[in-house]
This record gives sequence, C-alpha cells and structure tokens, in this order.
Amino acid sequence: MSSVVLNPQLATLPVYVPGKPIDEVAREHGLRPADIIKLASNENPLGPSPMALAAMADVLKNLHLYPDGNSFHLKRKLAAKLGVEPANLVLGSGSNEIIEFLGHALLGAGDEVLVSEHCFAVYPIVAALFGAKLVTVPAKGFHADVEGLLRAVTPRTKLLFLANPNNPTGTLTSREDLSRLLAEVPPHVLIALDEAYVEFLADPLDSIALVRSGVRPNLVLLRTFSKIFGLAGLRLGYGIGAPDMVAALEKVRQPFNINSIAQAGALAALDDTAHLDGTRANNRQGLDLLHSEFGRLGLAFVESHANFVLVEVGDGARVFAELQKRGVITRPMGSYRLPGWIRISVGTPAENNRCLATLREVLGR
Ligand SMILES: *Cc1c(COP(=O)(O)O)cnc(C)c1O
Repeated sequence: MSSVVLNPQLATLPVYVPGKPIDEVAREHGLRPADIIKLASNENPLGPSPMALAAMADVLKNLHLYPDGNSFHLKRKLAAKLGVEPANLVLGSGSNEIIEFLGHALLGAGDEVLVSEHCFAVYPIVAALFGAKLVTVPAKGFHADVEGLLRAVTPRTKLLFLANPNNPTGTLTSREDLSRLLAEVPPHVLIALDEAYVEFLADPLDSIALVRSGVRPNLVLLRTFSKIFGLAGLRLGYGIGAPDMVAALEKVRQPFNINSIAQAGALAALDDTAHLDGTRANNRQGLDLLHSEFGRLGLAFVESHANFVLVEVGDGARVFAELQKRGVITRPMGSYRLPGWIRISVGTPAENNRCLATLREVLGR
C-alpha cells in the first residue's frame, strides 16, 4: 500500500460507466464483433461523415508536426457557421473536456453546482472532483423543474448545468421555461447549457443569439462533434460564450488539446450537409419506430427529442444483460438511479428492428 496521500475528493468520486465497447462484449460472450450492435452511447449509426474521413486521411502524412494549438481554421469556419467570432469559441477533447475546464476555471471547496435530477453523469463527477457541493433539484415527470432550479440558487451557486435535450431522459425544456431560466438566473451563476443533441431538433431556441448579443455574459453553450456529426472517437467538442469567459477557459486548457486529425475531420464534417441531413432523417424515423413499438409493447417510455429513448423494462440490469448476451448493447440506468429503465440509442432501421425483436424475446412479449 502506498503511503502517498491522495486527493481526498477521490474517495467519494462518482464513477462514469461508459457504454460497453463491441470488442469487450465479443470477448465476454464469445460472439463475433460483426454480430454485435451497439446502441449504448448515442453514436451516429450512419458512421462518420465520408468527407471527414477523406480529410483526415489527408493529414496523416503530417503527423510528425504539432497541431495548430489555436485551431485557427476550424475556429474560423465554426464561427462563420454559427454566426459568432472565433473569440467566442473554446475547443475541447469532447465537450466533456469543456465541462472540466469549467470546473478548473470556476469551482472550489464550498461552491455549489446546481443540476436537475437525471442529469448527465459528468456534471456530478466534475463537481466532486473540485470539491464543490452538488445541489440536485427533483425533476417533474422527468423534465427539469425550472422554477425549482431558480429557487435553489444561493449566493454560493457558481455553476448551473442543464442539458437540452437532456441525456439520459431525452426531454426538452420548453422554449418558454428555457427563456425564463436564462433570463432569471442571477449574473453570479454561470449557466452551462449543454446542447450535445441540439442539431437533432427541428426548431431549437436560438441560444447562440443570446451569446452573440452579449445579453447573457454568464452563459456558455456546450456542443459536440460526437453525436450528429458521428465523430465520437475523434474527441472534439466546443463551448460558445462571451469572450472573457472563453479566455478564462482557454487559460486552463493544455496547449495542444485538439489533435491535427480532429481539426481536419471537423473542418470537413461541418460542410457535409448530406451526412447531417441523412442522420437527422434516420433519427426521426428511428425515434418514431421506437416510440410506437414501446407503446405497442405496453412499455413506459419518455418521449425523446434526441437520438435515444429511455424505456422502462422492469429489471433494467437483467434486461440489459440478456440483450447483451444476444449481441445487442444498450445502457442500463442503475447509475442514474433508474434501475427499472434502459436507454436505447437510435440505430439504422435494421439495428432498430433487431433491437426490438430481441427485446420482445427477452421480455417474452
Ligand atoms: C454525449 C454528451 C456529451 C458529449 O460528450 P463528448 O465529450 O463531446 O463526447 C455532452 N453532454 C451530454 C449531455 C451528452 O449526452
């Protein structure tokens, strides 16, 4: 036993439980990787953008060189697409890294981090890592309770995390509630509005306009290339905020946190509208199928605005395990304190049908 004294935060740090990789499930159950489908991590079932793949292959020959530490071209293009300035953007190794930057830049012992019940698992982890106190406001029928969140703000509240749509529930905070929250949260609280799934919405609130206009200097939007762009393995996300907040987040990042392949891939993916449109259409179809089939099976589910559905299956751990044995990887929700539920990501039509057939078999319906 080492007598090195660890950071005391580690003793109680919650652990993130990721979706199981296909290879691991293949090893554990003696299956062939090709016979396994993964619907566990809200990845893009159509794969990465073909344009991104070509652009990434093209930079491999230059991998002996350090990447551009300021991601000049990517920031410039992203800023133009979003209608902001490059100074409004900070890039991270996944938006998870931006969440960690927020911890570094803002949190210390005694600070409070405000979240809604059923929030994304990374928020409590980052709060605990920096010794901050997590304040969880009960959800209302799986939706964030905006009134409750506003009431829970104290002078010690530093950071409020809200994902919209939310993971793992897939719920959307209404335009009215969201506008109210953004308008009424006091200025000493930084609002991290996590929009990892915003590109799946047909008519999202124009949150960027609030950053652009400067009316919400305490707002940072979190976005990612992991979901609709199909580049989860590349690890690239970004924050959009006021230039002074972005400058603070830039200070705490490592100089070369975005590698050359990620910069090239994302730059190309931004232009691949065919891939984005195809993904959106596939997702809409998949959501409709899952919603209607869960209804027909008499399973309770939460209507989703993202690319996954939370569904109640009885014993979530058992159903997850039985599905996995049959080569269908989903996500058990015990770590989200929803032990009766599993979360199923939208796949291709064939994957969705296989998942539903296997679910019927496991449930005996
Ligand atoms: C998937 C997801 C992210 C994105 O994570 P990356 O680090 O960008 O891969 C962020 N927030 C929520 C709520 C998510 O579900």
